[in-house]
Amino acid sequence: MPTEPVLPESELRARALQGIEEGRLPLVLSTHIDAGYGEGVRCDLCDKAIDADKIEYDVTDPNSGKCLHFHIACHFAWQRECARRLKGVPPRYAELRKRRS
Ligand SMILES: [Zn+2]
Repeated sequence: MPTEPVLPESELRARALQGIEEGRLPLVLSTHIDAGYGEGVRCDLCDKAIDADKIEYDVTDPNSGKCLHFHIACHFAWQRECARRLKGVPPRYAELRKRRS
């Protein structure tokens, strides 16, 4: 299954929290996501390669302009933590909000 998590949910959440705390992952709600099949690049959350049979989510960090790559499950884990720390808005609503430039 392309959407199957590569790590257990609890582990993804722990890594998302750690990434945000260490500043490796921005604390933002994604407003623009490019999705496609993986190209073998490393996931910014779990550090594992995103294989061609997995869905890859590409998000641009609005602070640094850096492109971040995630497995779909890793992206959700990260966004869930961001939402919890920001306004408590679930990620699925974040995508419906007005896009910033
Ligand atoms: Zn991942």
